[in-house]
Amino acid sequence: MGEPPSPQPALELPPRYDPSGLESRLYAAWVASGAFHPVAREADRPYVIVIPPPNVTAALHMGHGLNNTIQDVLTRRRRMQGYDALYLPGTDHAGIATQNVVERQIGAEGHSRFDLGRDAFVARVWEWVEEYGGRIVEQLKVIGCSCDWERNRFTLDEGLSRAVREVFVRLYERDLVYRGRYIINWCPRCGTALSNEEAEHRDHAGHLYRIRYALTGADASIEVATTRPETMLGDTALAVHPEDERYRDLIGLTAILPLVGRELPIVGDEYVDPEFGSGVVKVTPAHDPNDFEIGLRHDLDIVDVMTDEATMSDRAPEPYRGLDRFEARARVVADLETGGFLVGIEDHPHTVGRCYRCDTVVEPRLSLQWFVRMAPLARPALEAYLGGELRFHPERYGKVYQNWLENTRDWVISRQLWWGHRIPVWYCRDPKCGEIAVTREDPVACPACGGELDQDTDVLDTWFSSWLWPFSTLGWPEATEDLKAFYPTDALVTAPEILFFWVARMVMAGLEFTGELPFTDVLLNGTVRDHLGRRMSKSLGNGIDPMEVVEMYGADAMRFTLIRGAPLGTDLQLNDQDLEEAFRPGRNFANKIWNAARLALPRVKATRSPAGELSGALADRWIRSRLARAASDIDAAFESFRLHEAAETCHSFIWGDFCDWYLELAKRRFDDPGAGDDVASTLETVMRAWLGLLHPIMPFVTEEIFTRLSGDPGASLVAGPWPEVPGEWVDGEADSAIDALRELIGAVRVVRSEYRIEPRSLIEVRLAAPSAALLLGLSAEEPSVLRLAGIARITVPNGAEGGPGAHVVLRSGGEVFVPLGDVIDLARERQRIGEEATRTSDLLGRTRAKLESRGFLDNAPPEVVDREREKLEALTEQQSRLEAKLRSLA
Ligand SMILES: [Zn+2]
Ligand SMILES: [Zn+2]
Repeated sequence: MGEPPSPQPALELPPRYDPSGLESRLYAAWVASGAFHPVAREADRPYVIVIPPPNVTAALHMGHGLNNTIQDVLTRRRRMQGYDALYLPGTDHAGIATQNVVERQIGAEGHSRFDLGRDAFVARVWEWVEEYGGRIVEQLKVIGCSCDWERNRFTLDEGLSRAVREVFVRLYERDLVYRGRYIINWCPRCGTALSNEEAEHRDHAGHLYRIRYALTGADASIEVATTRPETMLGDTALAVHPEDERYRDLIGLTAILPLVGRELPIVGDEYVDPEFGSGVVKVTPAHDPNDFEIGLRHDLDIVDVMTDEATMSDRAPEPYRGLDRFEARARVVADLETGGFLVGIEDHPHTVGRCYRCDTVVEPRLSLQWFVRMAPLARPALEAYLGGELRFHPERYGKVYQNWLENTRDWVISRQLWWGHRIPVWYCRDPKCGEIAVTREDPVACPACGGELDQDTDVLDTWFSSWLWPFSTLGWPEATEDLKAFYPTDALVTAPEILFFWVARMVMAGLEFTGELPFTDVLLNGTVRDHLGRRMSKSLGNGIDPMEVVEMYGADAMRFTLIRGAPLGTDLQLNDQDLEEAFRPGRNFANKIWNAARLALPRVKATRSPAGELSGALADRWIRSRLARAASDIDAAFESFRLHEAAETCHSFIWGDFCDWYLELAKRRFDDPGAGDDVASTLETVMRAWLGLLHPIMPFVTEEIFTRLSGDPGASLVAGPWPEVPGEWVDGEADSAIDALRELIGAVRVVRSEYRIEPRSLIEVRLAAPSAALLLGLSAEEPSVLRLAGIARITVPNGAEGGPGAHVVLRSGGEVFVPLGDVIDLARERQRIGEEATRTSDLLGRTRAKLESRGFLDNAPPEVVDREREKLEALTEQQSRLEAKLRSLA
């Protein structure tokens, strides 16, 4: 048999809001509609955001949740405004991270990557990527990101690899990449070079070792201070400041290196700080970047005493060979002591660089690497900021960007890994030829001698592909339709930690290779922290899984919490111990909206009529006025990236003005045949607008209600239009009239609760000198006021009031008097308030005495004294309130 068909099933909302099935259904419908896929040929008004590509190994965490929700909100609003909005997704091949994951997997099988060999290993990583790499993409869909999945890219896909190759060759041709021996940061555990930014400098409780070096052929010695005694085995000089009176005469002499016996020239170099230690420093060009520079200036020998694994090499004296660097340090110090060379050891806190991937102490190491010359690229990137074309939000990050670009050093781009873009450089096998070929297509033979070639074994830094991301993802170097339509992009939303790694380099690459800034606005989002203020991380186990949040509270609740939670650039604290506390407000908001829709929709349906004149009823004028103000605030907030304010205004308008006041005022007219149409058309107009305003932040619940409100299963908010609320709807007269009513209702409710008036007892309210606004409000909405405040009647009598009752002065100047003789037991209430007044006065006396006691004032900490003073003030106020109450009941 089944139930009879309901006349307009689309308008029936289930009693409870249940996001789970609804969200996936709507998301699939959006993708199928093509709303997320702007067509390049038709894109005359583009708006583009490219995703900061998450690592292909990553699972979505709250940091991604915040970052991607911001991008989605911006894109969704522009899409509704009629832009050809593109939110371009993708993932990063993440060189070291991904290689590590697969190496661990192979390690568990008892093998190393070297057992497999390069090709088989890389094939294995691809397998892993194909199997697990899509995880984060699926998770972005779950939180509602309106990405164009047809344009999903991967930094190691064919197109992006071509872009990387083209850029390397161009830079080589312009002499902006070079190969050089250089001191680089080296991670002995990962076996790879690290950029300056990948070596994280942190405090370390180290020591300063003072060592005596004998002067050659003289019965004298000089003292040298170092934090790393093991490197002395590679010393090739001593240095003093050329102006240092104490040592000027030593320049040109030599000293004997303890434990090794090598003769070291003593050089004068302005780098030496006469104030540090004794004013004499040892020079180890192979193991310290500054010493390397001194070595270049004085043409010193380079003795590299360490291997790639940071053990002592064959260039170290026999007893130390093969020792780990820290074992070697202990051995060197012991031998110095035995030999009488050690003067002393002092505590010496200093900073030590650590690998950002594995935390191993970084070793400054001389090696042959590829570099990008940064200075010529940095200049235009700096000018774009100084000229105001590139903007940062919050602005303070502009200074950080500027400072980095003014002090940038060359960028080491080679990595000793297998997973990544292999460096497109081939070396001739014949050392007599020595040709180096750097070409767009793989060469088959040496272009100089026709002999065999070997390709460089290193790969490029992962950032060497991501710095091209805004244009490589659109097809560059080909002049594709996508590139023409969607480049340059608009806003970039990312975390401040990668301002240098990524943002600054993208600006450089954009200007160098396309002649245009890749984006105009850089938004830096804050960090998501736990209830103790710690950054959420997998290793601390304090992360909140966004998938769990979506399952429990819905994607809308999560998005609203993230967006409202913190202004841009400010950290967001979430209670990881109590998800309910963290996400309840967002879920309650979705429920509130749902319940409002359940109340309103049947009214709209009952009286659906062609849109006519705007209703002139006061409450209708007022809600349109509030809507106009809210819409203008929300637009302004969005335009200046104050997304939290947009969320807050949506919330206070929808919850406060619409649900708590407008619906309450409107209820009375729902069944009034004369007013029904006015209410229905106002409800529909105002709801359509606020559903639209909230849609970018909470797309699911708003879309579902909008479709049902429209009575058309095909109606959708996703492609707009964005609500245009006429500014003329702002109505000062209606605003002040309803404000006056709200104040009156509020005042009466306070009286009811202060005097403990039974909820069922209706009271009388007498007004004196009511404002014109209040009278206007009452003339339109008196029945609602009576119902909402439990009032039997409101009168405006002439003359003075008599009898016991509560008296309130309104902001607007009018006065409210509520006679209490008939509604409460005056004697009992007087007694209750009298007792409270006695208690208050006792406490007041004790507090006053305390504050007059010298002993207390002299001994208590100032904040305790301040607290007592505040207490005194509060009690004094309470006492006078109670006295007034007693008088009013007399
Ligand atoms: Zn490492
Ligand atoms: Zn050759």
